[in-house]
Amino acid sequence: MDIHFDLKKSEGYKSLSQIARVLTEDWGRKNLYCVSCKRERLEPLRDNSQVYDYACGNCEEKYQLKSQRKPLGDKFVDSAYAPMIESIRTNKAPNLLLLHYDPVDYCAANLVVVPRFFLSTSCIEARNPLSLTARRAGWVGCNIVLKQLPPDGRIPIVHDRLAVKASEVRAKYGRFRFMMGEKSELRGWTADVLKAVRALGKKEFRLDDVYGFEGELERLHPLNAHIKPKIRQQLQLLRDRGVIKFKGNGLYKIS
Ligand SMILES: [Zn+2]
Repeated sequence: MDIHFDLKKSEGYKSLSQIARVLTEDWGRKNLYCVSCKRERLEPLRDNSQVYDYACGNCEEKYQLKSQRKPLGDKFVDSAYAPMIESIRTNKAPNLLLLHYDPVDYCAANLVVVPRFFLSTSCIEARNPLSLTARRAGWVGCNIVLKQLPPDGRIPIVHDRLAVKASEVRAKYGRFRFMMGEKSELRGWTADVLKAVRALGKKEFRLDDVYGFEGELERLHPLNAHIKPKIRQQLQLLRDRGVIKFKGNGLYKIS
């Protein structure tokens, strides 16, 4: 992967946003690869579709590339709120490729993939509707709340201008591929409980440690009255999938 953009492609363009769009699209076509299979390149979708930007010609995984000139923070501005929620519920959301490019050197500084199976209503936030004087008055956009995802759901492809090995990226993606088969609500729980476990910051933990996140999980899932049983169910699922181990006497281990 070459992190540098091909500046020749921007000749003839004047506005900075157009230049950024042309350069990042061109860079994506030449450098993005499939994280779900071994395909070396992704194919750009040229149908002006608002949702998918690239697709894998082999396994058909879809990708959306979003870029910004500032470093990736807690939130990432995405498109319309309602279609995003609908695409998550119907399992049609694409994998998100979030690019922070350097607007001086014109290169990829950081690129993260959020696997589509980690997207749930917990990490999508509605923005304020556009004001009545705006061209699209009342339109509601959304933010992807990155800090709401466990680190497993934010996989670096480029980190501080260094490309991570593709095999490493694919292994991280593949580890949680089992979530693809789950319904969106259950996937959301898996991601949220995993995030709670990761937030403990230790390899070994107890059930009570995770129960400490009961309030936060209740806020994310207001319609569910049985938070503790849900936590136990998800820990069991993560054990069945080899992500955590039960050590006995209420002790768990995660790697
Ligand atoms: Zn593929």
